[in-house]
Amino acid sequence: MLAILHPNTPLDSEGYRQTLHYLENLPGVSLRVHEVQGASQRLTEIYLLGDTKSLDKEEIEALPAVERAIRISDDYRILGRHKDDRRQSGFNYNGVEFNQDNLNVFAGLCAVDVPEHVEMILKALEDQGEVCTRMGAYKPRTNPYSFQGHGKGCLPWVFEKAGKHGIKVIAMEITHESHIEEIDTCLEKLGRPTGVMLQVGTRNTQNFELLKAIGRQSTYPVLLKRGFGITLNESLNAAEYLASEGNANVVFCLRGMKTEAGQPHRNMVDFAHVPAVKRLTRMPVCVDPSHSVGSREASPDGILDVMHATAQGVIAGANMVLVDFHPKPEKALVDGPQALLMKELSAYLEDIRLCHDTWKKRRDIYQRLKDSAPE
Ligand code: PEP
Ligand code: MN
Repeated sequence: MLAILHPNTPLDSEGYRQTLHYLENLPGVSLRVHEVQGASQRLTEIYLLGDTKSLDKEEIEALPAVERAIRISDDYRILGRHKDDRRQSGFNYNGVEFNQDNLNVFAGLCAVDVPEHVEMILKALEDQGEVCTRMGAYKPRTNPYSFQGHGKGCLPWVFEKAGKHGIKVIAMEITHESHIEEIDTCLEKLGRPTGVMLQVGTRNTQNFELLKAIGRQSTYPVLLKRGFGITLNESLNAAEYLASEGNANVVFCLRGMKTEAGQPHRNMVDFAHVPAVKRLTRMPVCVDPSHSVGSREASPDGILDVMHATAQGVIAGANMVLVDFHPKPEKALVDGPQALLMKELSAYLEDIRLCHDTWKKRRDIYQRLKDSAPE
């Protein structure tokens, strides 16, 4: 059971004290208090865990500080959607809104290499009015002798350049909890010219200690990649690890599944799961067409498979696109062959806008159907 308190309930008020006292004394029930900071109000949610089957919803709703109670299922307690659950989806970070209705594009480098390339990409994004990017500094590589990323050494100049070009959020994978502090220290030193969304890669989806460490901080939101060889349920539970530790600002990213059956693509594109994740949870959903498709192959219509896959995800309601671009793919240190070119950026963004608008129109068509023929 989840008790949602009236917005902005003071934690030192009599109503809060009485409510907590009552809940704390329920036999076999333990409490977990979760604070949600929205744009204009603070919401306190109290999760009642344990023996809650026999609890009376109306009795909980009658408590002075409680606005409403929701019976929640065991799966994805915090991030999930439950029956009669009208809680908002999404969050605002550094002035950028992330929810299940809008769309943000994170085009950028798979791996940071040289300042000139970072500069070229950020300038191009700024010219297009984009405020988000991806920049890999810590790279998890299959082969220990492959380039592992520039690590904390590149952070100062990447962050400075991002600030200079008006970038508000950089998706940046981390592979160890110590990287959170490296990023935080660097941003703080520079006066926070930009923001970072901590990315958990597909190889770390079930690295529970890393998830817990990231979940314990709430300065940075998280982009969690789906595990490439586990079920969707297992990946969604991984997201819940972050929330259960205190950080519910999570975007869930589909990036394809590893199987021979996906060939000729690098992974089996799984973007039909966009609406499924939106139905099961309140997380905004991202698609990563670059790591799903893994090449610059084009179909006879002249459109690259990466672009087709992007369109499939966005037209199905995706809320974020994470995509590799490179000014000189032949010089890229990681994943050059799948990168889109700077000259393709404008058309690609136009295509994405078209698909997102089409998704909204599709939603309207079915809403009208529902309105005209109620069950
Ligand atoms: C990446 O986005 O750079 C990456 C390594 O992706 P994934 O974890 O999905 O393989
Ligand atoms: Mn990559």
